[in-house]
Amino acid sequence: MQITNHLYLVGSEQFGISHLLDCNCYLIDGGDSLVLVDTGTGLGTDDILENIGRAGFDAKQLTHILLTHAHLGHWGGAPRLRHETGAEVWAPADGRYWMEHLEEDITIEQNFKFGRYPSNLQPQPCPPDHTFSDGDQIQLGKLQLQAIGVKGHTKDSTVFVGEMDGRRFMLTGDVVFYAGSLGITNAPGSSLEDYRNEMPKLANQGVDILLPGHSVFILRNGQKHIDRALRKLADFVLPDTFFEGNEFMWEKDYLSSLQDEPSD
Ligand SMILES: [Zn+2]
Repeated sequence: MQITNHLYLVGSEQFGISHLLDCNCYLIDGGDSLVLVDTGTGLGTDDILENIGRAGFDAKQLTHILLTHAHLGHWGGAPRLRHETGAEVWAPADGRYWMEHLEEDITIEQNFKFGRYPSNLQPQPCPPDHTFSDGDQIQLGKLQLQAIGVKGHTKDSTVFVGEMDGRRFMLTGDVVFYAGSLGITNAPGSSLEDYRNEMPKLANQGVDILLPGHSVFILRNGQKHIDRALRKLADFVLPDTFFEGNEFMWEKDYLSSLQDEPSD
């Protein structure tokens, strides 16, 4: 699915273009680089490869796999995609441990325990080829992105800011979503205090295009959605949280009801 001249959505649960457990996976045509941002769980890799083809590229052209954070739903497809395309995996330095020690990740354990992950999902470790930290400029061919570490959803969560066709875009992973809802969860590493301390880094970024890791993307006035989150965080009432209203997407019964639907 083409979003702008050089930007495509090639994986997504809600848009129905890859597996039901996949996050939004964006493809950026940087001219001399082809960058996939997040990969989904790995269950939708065939669809993602097909969608890269539909966007007019050969999957072998993929040069970089850039990851927003080390939740499996965002990087589980990286080992196979790296193997099949030769692309380098770039990940937040603080997420490296979790990409190498899956057996210690309580979110993976719980997703299996609560039946969200099917038993045929067999996640593999994925030591990244390169890591980055808060404030780094990431140069992927001619495409330049600024990495901004924003703790709150996880300790390694990173957003990427860049410019394309004269418009500022921000890839936010699970940090901030439509209408400024936040990725607070009841998992170790998620913290409202971290959000309060770190979200102000996203003030005055002049963002036009906001590209979250789930649900809708926003093509103009993206900064207003971030500003709403900042206003809420400055108050004493709880901010809106994305996963509170959307956790049904990953519930076993909901997933199986979708899978059982008769096709026309
Ligand atoms: Zn996440």
